[in-house]
Amino acid sequence: MIIAIKRGAAAEEIREFSAALEQREVKVHFSEGTIQTVLGLVGDTTAIDAEALQAHHLVEKVMRVQEPYKRANRLFHPEDSRIDVPLPEGGARSIGAGSLGIIAGPCSVESREQIVEVAEAVKNAGAGFLRGGAFKPRTSPYSFQGMGTGGLDLLVEAKKATGLPIVSELMAINQLEVFDEVDIIQIGARNMQNFNLLKELGRCKKPILLKRGYSCTVTELLMAAEYVMAGGSDRIILCERGIRTFDTYTRNTLDLSAVPFLKRQSHLPVIVDPSHGTGLSWMVPSMAKAAIAAGADGIILEVHNNPEKALCDGEQSITPPVFASLMKDLKKYAEIEGKKL
Ligand code: PEP
Ligand code: MN
Repeated sequence: MIIAIKRGAAAEEIREFSAALEQREVKVHFSEGTIQTVLGLVGDTTAIDAEALQAHHLVEKVMRVQEPYKRANRLFHPEDSRIDVPLPEGGARSIGAGSLGIIAGPCSVESREQIVEVAEAVKNAGAGFLRGGAFKPRTSPYSFQGMGTGGLDLLVEAKKATGLPIVSELMAINQLEVFDEVDIIQIGARNMQNFNLLKELGRCKKPILLKRGYSCTVTELLMAAEYVMAGGSDRIILCERGIRTFDTYTRNTLDLSAVPFLKRQSHLPVIVDPSHGTGLSWMVPSMAKAAIAAGADGIILEVHNNPEKALCDGEQSITPPVFASLMKDLKKYAEIEGKKL
């Protein structure tokens, strides 16, 4: 971190300021010019609040050199992290560090027939995980809100029928008690900066699928991961799911350049959601392939046995045959990338 001191500041005051900074486990290097003094802070500056420093009467400008996240930072953890999800028959299914995770299923669990049928179809096509929302964050309070715990029970039935580990969204911390059988807890875009929730999740031993908020920067996504990690858990999967931009031809703008950026900055696995990223089922296969080509560690996508009748997100849901055909293509992409699928 570099701190430019205001011109004309008294040397004694600068010394006192610097001594106070050194109390915080950083070393301060002085660079005294004829006009201005610049302080260089070396060491772990993650806990130093640059904005608070900016308010100090001696400070002209503060510049961060190091990222504000530490546990999520590749700098301190050069090798890729891998998230292992135990399988009922023994062994584990992995995401990251050379293993692609394909998570497929409906936006919401709607009935036993629906979830079991989709689960069997995606399993036969080669998906690694089953998704299905039971608690749905809907823009309108009058829209289908999900089946709640009943939906989770059906998802668990589908897991038992197929052996696929399950992924479902948690909206509030008091729901944790009913998520016992859920293998990966999804934190949706709307909750990415629910800091109380993130802090509590640090105590949770299950993997967390953390989706990027639709108006959040990639650094904010990494800081959200840092919250969970600072709480004690490091089993996090980051997910790019599209952001809001000025253009509306797609539901969101799928920011695929976030993938190589996040992979460069962090050791955590990064997956892509082409369903919410585009909102258009016909675009999903192209963007799923593009995600793998961009270096993603997997994808999460919506598959429905009858998209026209879906209670949520039918327009962006692909059918089981389209998913099966996409999986064939993805196998080729995985081979090019040298990853296991
Ligand atoms: C979902 O996965 O169904 C969902 C609501 O996603 P997001 O939080 O990315 O909107
Ligand atoms: Mn959805």
